[in-house]
Amino acid sequence: MAEVKSFCARAFVAAKSCHYCGRRLSFFGGRFDSKVKDYLMPLSKGGHDEPENIVACCKECQVLKGDYINYALLPMLLNRPRMIADIRRYISEIKQMTGVKSSVMDLPGSRR
Ligand SMILES: [Zn+2]
Repeated sequence: MAEVKSFCARAFVAAKSCHYCGRRLSFFGGRFDSKVKDYLMPLSKGGHDEPENIVACCKECQVLKGDYINYALLPMLLNRPRMIADIRRYISEIKQMTGVKSSVMDLPGSRR
C-alpha cells in the first residue's frame, strides 16, 4: 500500500490545474485556487483512498462540491466550466443576501 500512497502523492503533486473547473492551481495556501486533494467519491460515501479516486482541485471547487453538489452529478459538470461559474455566482449572491461569512471563502484573493 505504500506504493499506492506514493503514486497518489506524485499524481497529486504533478497536477497543474483543477480537475473540476480547470483553473491553474496555486501553491499558496488560503486562496481559492490553492491546490487541495479531493476524493471523487467521498470517503464518507464509500470511496477509497486510491489513485483513481483522488484528484487535485482548487479549494473553491472543493468547498462547492462538499457543500452544494452531489458527487454523483460531478461527471456532468466536468466539461461545463460555465455551469460551475453560474453556481459560483449563485453562491456569491446567496452569501451577499444572507451576509454569511465563511472563513474559507472570504480569504483575500489578492495576496501573493
Ligand atoms: Zn476548481
